[in-house]
Amino acid sequence: MNKKSPSAESTKVLDQAVLDQLKEMFADISHDIPVYLFSRKDENETEVNMGREILSAFASVSKKIKFKEYNLSHKQAKKWGVIKSPTIVFAPELYRIHYLGIPLGEEGRTLVETLVLVGSRASRVNEQARRVLSRIDSPRKLRVFVSPTCPYCPQQAVNAVKAAIERPDQVSLEIIDNNFNPELAEQYSAMSVPQTFANNVLIAKGAQSEELFAASLENMTEQKFFIPESDAEQIETDLVIIGGGPAGLTAAIYAARSGLNTVVLEKDTLGGQIATTPTVDNYPGLAHIGGKNLVDIMVAHALEYVNVFPREEVIEIKPGEIFELTTSLRRFTARAILLATGATTRKLGVPGEYRFSGRGVSYCSTCDGPLFKGKKVVMVGGGNSAVTEAIHLNHIGADVTLMHRRDSLRAQDNLIQDLEHSKTPIIWNTEVKEIKGRETVSELVIYNNQTEKTESFPTDGIFISVGYIPEIELAQKIGVDIGADGYITHDAHHRTNIPGIYCAGDVEGGYKQIVTAAGAGAAAAMTLFEDLSHPYWKDRD
Ligand code: NAP
Repeated sequence: MNKKSPSAESTKVLDQAVLDQLKEMFADISHDIPVYLFSRKDENETEVNMGREILSAFASVSKKIKFKEYNLSHKQAKKWGVIKSPTIVFAPELYRIHYLGIPLGEEGRTLVETLVLVGSRASRVNEQARRVLSRIDSPRKLRVFVSPTCPYCPQQAVNAVKAAIERPDQVSLEIIDNNFNPELAEQYSAMSVPQTFANNVLIAKGAQSEELFAASLENMTEQKFFIPESDAEQIETDLVIIGGGPAGLTAAIYAARSGLNTVVLEKDTLGGQIATTPTVDNYPGLAHIGGKNLVDIMVAHALEYVNVFPREEVIEIKPGEIFELTTSLRRFTARAILLATGATTRKLGVPGEYRFSGRGVSYCSTCDGPLFKGKKVVMVGGGNSAVTEAIHLNHIGADVTLMHRRDSLRAQDNLIQDLEHSKTPIIWNTEVKEIKGRETVSELVIYNNQTEKTESFPTDGIFISVGYIPEIELAQKIGVDIGADGYITHDAHHRTNIPGIYCAGDVEGGYKQIVTAAGAGAAAAMTLFEDLSHPYWKDRD
């Protein structure tokens, strides 16, 4: 039976400021956006109520959003192939886009972008990706696994929405929220998010740029490089900052405010490591803040001054008095470059780690933790990150054990105290030697380096937080000196050996705190401004 359409006044879940923003966003939408929520009574009732309230609130800001609700037993469910409760269906007469679950948390971004794209009847996919999608000549049934706490997921979900809108003749899409559909996640062994399947084949682990997503969908296998098929546009700048973490974003604010025409390029998600840090307790002025919230504040601040290009990887840098940079989408010229490329997670390097990555092996408790609620997991490491993440896993209801290779932690005292309060068991002097399982992780082979005993440790998952290694690949490619410690060699003013190339943040070593990275970014930008005004390398000639 058709339930009654919800009242358009329901606005409890979104505050007035958000509603005003949405109103503005949907003001120019030209087409109707039919949205249907299917649910079965008594299933996920609280979340379904929230979903109902959210969609009603959206409908209250734009007359174009036509929201209706149906029981799962209604004939429309059969017509549109809906079998799970809850499921949201977007404009089913035009597209095949289903959201299995309720888009809460980070997934709110997926919902907003899907509504806007459907309402504009345009995929807004970039030209390079459009060309690739146009070549797809057989059906693709896309499934993207996401979770509401994963900051990377909306990017990949929206890539898929764009493909479904650009090629409605060939592409159908289910965005699957792991929290609502653990049995589907298990069926696909999708224990980390985002993961993307096409016709049941895994085509991507993690979020991709639009072009790489399109290429992976075309080739039905994950693509790592994308070579543009046409001449890209060229943007002239004074400064290109490579890396959108705290160092890069702070440098951007300082550089732009001193008058340098600046852009930020980030190959992944903005914010770097903080984007997936559960909480930050030591950033001055913000006593306790979620890592992603801090990133959002920094990005919003940087955007007041500069253009930021997320998911745009620098492929090549040609040296010269003016540097020429090529990405997969554009070319940039720059008088100077700041390398703020940060660091990437260190791997354990044991058998099974690569094979089970995303199938029980995870490096991000914020993204993947919720899927392990009520399950047994091991957190490996003894630093601030491992302890913070073990506490987080404990809070979200995972049965977590911390495993450390020594008999003491190197984390800060207050974090150790919080860990003790959480009553998380710790296994000392123990190293993981192998990760085993069938489809997903089920067992670790562990070695006690005091007793020299090797034994099996049953577990559903293993979270690895054993530090970071600097991202120096690009620096090496262009001849920037790297020290024996693996970090970029630089002087006290963040200058590298190559005139015009600077570095800041975790890629140059040091304390590796958010505040020190931000400080280094500011200092590097001030040096840069001085140097571009009075190039020291010209005085040397
Ligand atoms: P970290 O401080 O370098 O600690 C890495 C941990 O992993 C250490 O306990 C280390 O053991 C262990 N480890 C390294 N390689 C291993 C291996 N192959 N097998 C097993 N264990 C291994 O890294 P982090 O905790 O990611 O922190 C990185 C930086 O970010 C630090 O400067 C940290 O202070 C900062 N951070 C700060 C906060 C905060 O202030 N709240 C939060 C997170 C991170 P050993 O102890 O035996 O060397």
